Amino acid sequence: MKPRCCRPHALPIHDIHEECGIFGVFNHPEAANLTYLGLYALQHRGQEGAGICSSDGKDLHCEKAIGLVADIFSEKRLKRLPGSIAIGHNRYSTAGGGGLKNVQPFMANYALGSIALAHNGNLINALEVKATLEADGAIFHSSSDSEVLLHLIARSRHENPYERIIEALNGLRGAYSLLFLRETELIIARDPFGVRPLAIGTVDGAYVVASETCAFDLIGAEYIRDVEPGELVIIDHNGLRSIKALQSTRKAHCVFEFIYFSRPDSYIFNHSGVNTVRKRLGRQLALESNIDADIIVPVPDSGVPAAIGFSEQAMIPFDFGLIRNHYIGRTFIEPKQSIRHFGVKIKLNAVRDLLQGKRVVVVDDSIVRGTTSKKIVKMIREIGGAKEVHMRICSPPTVGPCFYGIDTPTRYELIASSHLTEEIRKYITADTLAYMSIDGLKKVIPNPEDFCTACFDNQYPIEFPGKHNEQMELTFA
Ligand code: AMP
Repeated sequence: MKPRCCRPHALPIHDIHEECGIFGVFNHPEAANLTYLGLYALQHRGQEGAGICSSDGKDLHCEKAIGLVADIFSEKRLKRLPGSIAIGHNRYSTAGGGGLKNVQPFMANYALGSIALAHNGNLINALEVKATLEADGAIFHSSSDSEVLLHLIARSRHENPYERIIEALNGLRGAYSLLFLRETELIIARDPFGVRPLAIGTVDGAYVVASETCAFDLIGAEYIRDVEPGELVIIDHNGLRSIKALQSTRKAHCVFEFIYFSRPDSYIFNHSGVNTVRKRLGRQLALESNIDADIIVPVPDSGVPAAIGFSEQAMIPFDFGLIRNHYIGRTFIEPKQSIRHFGVKIKLNAVRDLLQGKRVVVVDDSIVRGTTSKKIVKMIREIGGAKEVHMRICSPPTVGPCFYGIDTPTRYELIASSHLTEEIRKYITADTLAYMSIDGLKKVIPNPEDFCTACFDNQYPIEFPGKHNEQMELTFA
């Protein structure tokens, strides 16, 4: 059975989905080195490419490349990034890629000097704004939504750089956690919904900012606070200033950051521990759909805390029945279905010692297309020798694509958008399959009314303007 495809030609709203990691430093003699370490800790947020821009007080310097952070930044390369202010970006690989030209930070010279930008999120009206700018003669170097922002800043007539940024942000909709580097300052912005996480910390008297706090731990920085939704933070030699730049009517933090994307050792969205939330998800899932079994096995790495929670609640032993090869990237980043099929086997193997003849509960964070679960069930039966395989998913069925920065495919590729749980169970060949309920999810997430759960309930908190509505219809058909 293949996922039913109602409209195979349906287009994603944007060719680039940017779930990325960003990191910035102000006032540290080793700004570029700290940024390198910060990006290293945030590598899970993007593996296609990375870049760092630094300022020596007069000029900006930029180094970026395709690949992993540790491979890109040699000592020699880091030495080419002088100064005490820096920003960095890890780019998530996407279907179709985009190559070096889409690797951030983006840098530009404009009327007020130089500016560099690092963006995590997705601007949903960027294509429209870009078309208007192009009609007016603008030239773009990348196919990234983020470059549009630089154009809007450069074209603003305001003399004050912050007002230029605010004006540009007022013309854009969507999700953005943003870092701007100017010659003598670091400017931070977050969209009014606070979709992506962004935290400020301090180390050795310097300020640091990161998508996730796991980056602070590596460099010994202390968490100060989150950047508020709609806030603009300016850090210069006078210290830190905050401007309420954009009106925030409701928060819409991405629930998938808790479920899959962020690292379990991070604290996100006003300092909630990701590990604790995931463990609670596992407990809730066990309350909802426990079954008689011999062993609870996580799909590593993202399923581990939830499987521990499940095992504690169900009082069934937990063990690592699947072993992950850590020396490859995430399978999801492979652009073609055929490669991904192969990829799951490269990434995971079953431990026969633990699984032979057992009734196994497998805990994973989500099912997107169903490819991974199908391979895992087969592997646990054929290589592991399990007697029964019960799949438990610690999020509700993924029925809606994300337009705010998580790299999910179009609606017609999401297996749960067109199939019932029983049909999916048959497809993945599990003995039983159960997802978390939406109510269960909301019980576990702190302040659930402050979260976007569109991928599970199709309630999109950020309205799609103009032409995008038509494209949404297409994507949703
Ligand atoms: P699929 O094979 O398409 O059903 O993908 C499901 C697997 O992909 C699960 O094991 C998840 O851990 C993982 N996953 C879910 N969302 C994402 C994402 N945005 N990026 C990378 N991996 C993901």
